Amino acid sequence: MKIAVLPGDGIGPEIVEQAVKVLKALGESFELEFAPVGGAGYEASGHPLPESTLKLALDADAVLFGSVGDWKYDNLERALRPEQAILGLRKNLNLFANFRPAILYPELAGASTLKSEVVSGLDILIIRELTGDIYFGQPRGVRECPDGPFKGQREGFDTMRYAEGEVRRIAHVAFQAAQKRSKRLTSVDKANVLETFQFWKDIVIDVHKEYPDVALDHMYVDNAAMQLVRAPKKFDVIVTGNMFGDILSDAAAMLTGSIGMLPSASLDANNKGLYEPSHGSAPDIAGKGIANPLATILSAAMMLRYSLKMEAHADRIENAVKSVLAKGLRTPDIFEDGCTKVGTAEMGDAVVSALV
Ligand code: NAD
Repeated sequence: MKIAVLPGDGIGPEIVEQAVKVLKALGESFELEFAPVGGAGYEASGHPLPESTLKLALDADAVLFGSVGDWKYDNLERALRPEQAILGLRKNLNLFANFRPAILYPELAGASTLKSEVVSGLDILIIRELTGDIYFGQPRGVRECPDGPFKGQREGFDTMRYAEGEVRRIAHVAFQAAQKRSKRLTSVDKANVLETFQFWKDIVIDVHKEYPDVALDHMYVDNAAMQLVRAPKKFDVIVTGNMFGDILSDAAAMLTGSIGMLPSASLDANNKGLYEPSHGSAPDIAGKGIANPLATILSAAMMLRYSLKMEAHADRIENAVKSVLAKGLRTPDIFEDGCTKVGTAEMGDAVVSALV
């Protein structure tokens, strides 16, 4: 199995190093090939997604990704900014389904900013469409405002759009994921205001006919944001568009105590995927050895489960993470009184030691 390892920027290299340690400790002969991406790619070859990095990702069975971005690249033209690498990888690898599980480990109930009775036992899955929506729609840019009270002034604009096939394929993925869980799916939209999301809703209702065993409901995104912090356990699987999913999944991350706990998988139609923590490159703590590596380690477990079909190894890693949390080991982002504070590398070592 060939795994493309793209550590990226900021805390990326520190946290990916821990996931690699864990993969190496499983006793399989993975072929791990490293390549620069993001700011590191720009430094190495003048582009955030160097051609050699893209080729490696296309050739590999799966991609393990750290994170990209640093404030020092903020003045680069948009096409050269580190974040473009992740968009380029999603596009070239046809990664359209982003799985973001938000699970609250009982040991971390106190680390959530919400009352523990609201979040304890939380286990939801947010499925975010990745290739469409306002993030990619054309036209976009800055132009002269053509009408209205600000006519003649400069205006910024983007285009929200979804093709029928795009909505159908993510709806199928979501219904199938719901079938494997509690058979409940919530489609989040803004059909009351946006044409694109009325269209989304109509297609989801149509695809539902093929999955009569799944209970489907619809929720406007503003209400979904409120319900996620009011009664998150009411949800099971949520499917939504690119922008709403981006925002809601970060909110869901906080329910679990820290964004440092949240893995993610971005899959194509054949379950080849890119696996990364849900958080960014955290330049504020990069190089300090305090970043939480568990989201990345859990992303590696998702990689074993979804792309490499090594379910037993995925279980081993997830059980090892539960075991280190039960022992009271905590990086600073999830630290509570009475626990043992550890750094990034110590947490990685502890997960390796806890593998059975
Ligand atoms: P961020 O997720 O990097 O950080 C938000 C906050 O969470 C920070 O206080 C950070 O210290 C903390 N945090 C994040 N990961 C952590 C971890 N593993 N352990 C402990 N604390 C952690 O988001 P941001 O500050 O908005 O963005 C920083 C950079 O990351 C930007 O350049 C942004 O574009 C980029 N970014 C990249 C990705 C990606 O690579 N897929 C995703 C989001 C943001």
